[in-house]
Amino acid sequence: MTATEDALKERIRRDGPISLEAYMSIVTEAYYARGDVFGRDGDFITAPEISQTFGELIGLWCAVVWQNMGAPASFRLVECGPGRGTLMKDILRAAARAPGFATAADIHLVERSEALRAKQRETLATYSVTWHDDIARVPAGPLILVANEFLDALPIRQFEMSASGWKERFVSLNEHGALMLQLHAGAPTSAPAAQTGDLFETSPSVTAFIADLARRLAVTGGAALLIDYGYKATALGDTLQAVAKHKPCDIFDAPGEADLTAHVNFSAVADTATAAGTRAFGPVEQGAWLNRLGIQARGLQLAKGKAADVAETVSAGIRRLTQPDAMGVLFKVMALAHPSLATPEGFQQDGAA
Ligand code: SAH
Repeated sequence: MTATEDALKERIRRDGPISLEAYMSIVTEAYYARGDVFGRDGDFITAPEISQTFGELIGLWCAVVWQNMGAPASFRLVECGPGRGTLMKDILRAAARAPGFATAADIHLVERSEALRAKQRETLATYSVTWHDDIARVPAGPLILVANEFLDALPIRQFEMSASGWKERFVSLNEHGALMLQLHAGAPTSAPAAQTGDLFETSPSVTAFIADLARRLAVTGGAALLIDYGYKATALGDTLQAVAKHKPCDIFDAPGEADLTAHVNFSAVADTATAAGTRAFGPVEQGAWLNRLGIQARGLQLAKGKAADVAETVSAGIRRLTQPDAMGVLFKVMALAHPSLATPEGFQQDGAA
């Protein structure tokens, strides 16, 4: 039994069942506290670890946003959930081509895991970086924020339509003392029409994060780029998943040793952001967005003059990021921006929400 499982069971025996939201929050914190969980030898692999082109294009995207903001002499360059720090490193290398960007960028990372902060410190050793537990701690001022696979790690609530109406999923113990799901009183404030057995998810943590971010953007200016797997329109369904060593597992298998995530409801994100005074763009499928930003050309440039195996690694990475049967369609990109800002790169074809 993991230490996290022990602590969870002790708490449930003492205080009674906990919400699935509390369960996800406790398990996720314990999971990332372990440190570097990414890559082939870890549990899962993310876009910046697949190809440097991902972070480079995002770096150029940031540089264009900064120019459209009027190239302020100082702004907050923020990343939420930076993992190994690879994305920020690639962003900074690429964006440094815009004269003045590097000196203007005041780098802030939102990361709760001490072990991952240590890894990020190593990756970004040549830069001056400040860490925070929460976006609310990032000092005020114009900002450009990026978050890749951050929102999916924030806890969700799950509601199930029972014969007597909506109930909320809690985590309890069965007669053998094992973790199990149990329905308790609780209903979503609004939900699509549902039949018995249907599930509906909400994420108060995602809503609170987006509301805070959008309020800042509306007051001090700037833009945010959010990349994650998710869906475009509010819908019923269970998207909570657990992954360890690149394989799906049960959400109660080895709590704290598997990554728990849920798909992001991008229409809820857009609604929260527009209510707080920003414009929302997209979501655009990751493959289409990267192609619009020129990922194929960047790949050719990187592969030029290289040995065949190196060139093949570059193009395999780009295929994985862009192809529909890989990460190209499931992953989506959304931008939030101050209303006065020009439509960000890669969203011109779609119009604003
Ligand atoms: N963006 C990285 C890592 C994604 S994994 C990449 O693409 O490789 C999720 C990241 O979010 C980890 O760094 C994790 O520690 C962080 N994280 C998860 N929940 C968080 C929270 N509530 N507050 C701050 N960071 C969090």
